[in-house]
Amino acid sequence: MTNTTQGNCTEGGSVGPIRQAVLVINCGSSSVKFALIDTASSEPLITGLVECLNSADAELSWKVDGQKASKALPDADLVAGLSEVIAVLPADAEVVAVGHRVVHGAEEFSGSVMLCDKVMGALERCSTLAPLHNPANIEGIRASQKVFPGLPQVGVFDTAFHQTLPPHAYLYPVPYEWYTDLGVRRYGFHGTSHRYVAEETTRRLGKDMSDLSIVIAHLGNGCSACAIEGGQSVDTTMGLSPLEGLVMGTRSGDIDPALHEFISKAKGWSLERIMTALNKESGLLGISGQSNDMRTLVNAMDEGNERAALAIEVFAYRLAKSILGLTAALTKLDAIVFTGGIGENSHKVRAKTLAHMRVLGVQIDPELNAQNGDAATGCITKEGTLPCLVVATNEELMIARETLNVTQS
Ligand code: ADP
Repeated sequence: MTNTTQGNCTEGGSVGPIRQAVLVINCGSSSVKFALIDTASSEPLITGLVECLNSADAELSWKVDGQKASKALPDADLVAGLSEVIAVLPADAEVVAVGHRVVHGAEEFSGSVMLCDKVMGALERCSTLAPLHNPANIEGIRASQKVFPGLPQVGVFDTAFHQTLPPHAYLYPVPYEWYTDLGVRRYGFHGTSHRYVAEETTRRLGKDMSDLSIVIAHLGNGCSACAIEGGQSVDTTMGLSPLEGLVMGTRSGDIDPALHEFISKAKGWSLERIMTALNKESGLLGISGQSNDMRTLVNAMDEGNERAALAIEVFAYRLAKSILGLTAALTKLDAIVFTGGIGENSHKVRAKTLAHMRVLGVQIDPELNAQNGDAATGCITKEGTLPCLVVATNEELMIARETLNVTQS
């Protein structure tokens, strides 16, 4: 990494132009994902992960120019891990800003912000709503401020894009004081991904964002769907926390809230134990009893495993039901879009999901679906029927773009 703006010696000794870049950081409780995004080409110059922080197994791994490398960092803490990241950034890259993924911005943040002291105070307040995620994000920001002093640091929130939800979509039918006193409402997550995919879909369909009405299904380890009208999120499946909504890798998604009392009595479990089961032992893993990984389950289903097949059926049916439900928020439906590791790669899950949408007259094109979409638009359906697209998400690029927007405004 360089702070100069002239030229710089590359490893081979030749002088090349400086490439300005934004460092995107996604900090979890014991790991940090990072990507350095070239501001000119929008391409990642390096991507990597520091994992198992504060343990003997701490390790930095990275990928640059298609080559993978790693380095053991025994007992490294966050600051030490980030300091090692600097050492592996390409020598001809000038980091102009750092963009942080922050999970929960509550009602405090409807857009990305410069992370000044006042904002950090507001972020601390949001932590009560996201105790599993925000404290790690905040720790990552503070470490980054130490390691990159003088660089602008920007927070990009998973919830911000959904701040346009109308009250009838975000309120729970519970005592209203829970909302006014405690902030209990639906917030939604994956906003950075949904926004990126909406912009990309607009481009592919040759439409104006103001005239676009779509439902996006982001299907990764976490899954959520979002209804977007005129470029704004108008409803989404995740709620107060990322546990609500679709079936996920290990999260249950929607369940009857009475289940808590039933399981507590039946098994003598504490609330904490039940929450662990709903967050970490449910979803695809819970039903299949084998794996939270869709690729593994599809392979098992193909080999005749009934529980794997059942898990996939429940996943696809509930997804279809949610997508159809989200159309209530739209004035028309221009397209259904699949993204995330499952959405982008699994033709079987897409086909099973769309099979439950006969009511929309969706007709899948098996060939296009098998190749993960037509090369130009990502379309997987027959001409003349509702377009369903596969669009790869790129949250790092969206965070980098947002970071630049904030620093340049
Ligand atoms: P994250 O939410 O961690 O970013 P991803 O978006 O990478 O996760 O999605 C991970 C999921 O995508 C896993 O369940 C994985 O099995 C699934 N996946 C990736 N490729 C395929 C594939 N070819 N077929 C089915 N599932 C796939």
